[in-house]
Amino acid sequence: MAILHRLHRSAAAAFSPAAAAARRGLSALAAERTLERNVQWVFLGCPGVGKGTYASRLSQLVGAPHIATGDLVREELASSGPLSQQLAEIVNQGKLVSDEIIIDLLSKRLERGETKGESGFILDGFPRTVVQAEILEGVTEIDLVVNLKLREDVLLEKCLGRRICSQCGGNFNIASINVGEGNGKPGMYMAPLLPPANCMSKLITRADDTEEVVKKRLHIYNEMSRPVEEFYRKRGKLLEFNLPGGIPASWPKLLQALNIEDLDDKQCAVAYTFERVERRTSKYSMQPDHIVCPWILVAFSWMEMFFSRSEFCFA
Ligand code: ADP
Repeated sequence: MAILHRLHRSAAAAFSPAAAAARRGLSALAAERTLERNVQWVFLGCPGVGKGTYASRLSQLVGAPHIATGDLVREELASSGPLSQQLAEIVNQGKLVSDEIIIDLLSKRLERGETKGESGFILDGFPRTVVQAEILEGVTEIDLVVNLKLREDVLLEKCLGRRICSQCGGNFNIASINVGEGNGKPGMYMAPLLPPANCMSKLITRADDTEEVVKKRLHIYNEMSRPVEEFYRKRGKLLEFNLPGGIPASWPKLLQALNIEDLDDKQCAVAYTFERVERRTSKYSMQPDHIVCPWILVAFSWMEMFFSRSEFCFA
C-alpha cells in the first residue's frame, strides 16, 4: 500500500504541462509485488453490470477493501464541498469526472486506508480511461482485472431498477429481469434484490440512473473505458467473466473463476490466482518466494480443461 501513497504525491505532476515527463518518472516507481500484501484487483464493466455487488462481496471474502470511485464521487457530492457543484453537473450528465479529480479522490481514500492498516484493494470503477490505467500501472502492480459482462438491454433495465436505502446505504434492485434467448444470445433470469421491510420506505434512485443518462454512460463506457479492457488484455491480466444470471447463478461461478470457492486456505487460493495470471503471460516471471500449494498444481490441468469449456476465460 505504501507504493499507492505515491499516487497522491504524483497526481499533481501527472497532470502538469510536463505530464508526459512526469509519467516517465512514475514508471521508474513500478512496484515489485510483495507477497505480504493482500490482493490488488480491478473490476471493469459497464454501468449496471454489478461491479459494486461482486467487488464488495469479494472484499469481505479476501479481506481487502472495496474502493469504488463512484462512491467517492457521490461522497464528495453529498459533502457540499468546493467540488460538489461541479461534480453534480458532470455526473448527472453521465460524463466522466476528470482524471485529475478522480486520482485526487482515490489518493485520499488510499491514504485514509493506509493509516487504518488496510492492505491490498479491490478497485471498482477505476481505471476508466487509459490515462488512469497508465498512472496506476506506474505506481503499483495490479494482479488481476475482472471484466464483468452482461448484454446491454439487461444493463439498462438493471440501472433503472437500482435503488439505494437513504439511511443504511444498502444497494437493491427492484427489476425482475427475464429475457428469452434470441439472436444467438442465451436467455437470462435475474430476480429482484429487494430491500428488507425497514428500508422499503427510504429507497432513493441515483440521479444518474435515468434512461437518458444511462444510455449516455453506456456510450461513454464504450468510447473511453473499452480501451482500458484492451490495455489489460495486452498485459495478460484480463479475466473475462460473462454473468450467467443474477447473484445466485453468478456468484459461485465467479468464485470458481477466481479459484476461491474454498477459502479455508485463502492464501493458497490467492497465490493460485497470481500463478494463473503469470502463467498466461510470459512477461511476468515467477517470483522465487511464490507460494503455491501442491494441491493447486495437481488441480491445474483439470482447471485448464474446465476454463476452456466455460464462460470465463483469460484474454
Ligand atoms: P457506473 O454505474 O456508471 O459504473 P459509478 O458509480 O462507478 O457508476 O460512477 C458514477 C459516476 O462517477 C460516473 O458516471 C462518473 O461520472 C464518475 N466516476 C466514477 N469513477 C470514475 C473514474 N474512474 N473516472 C472518471 N469518472 C468517474
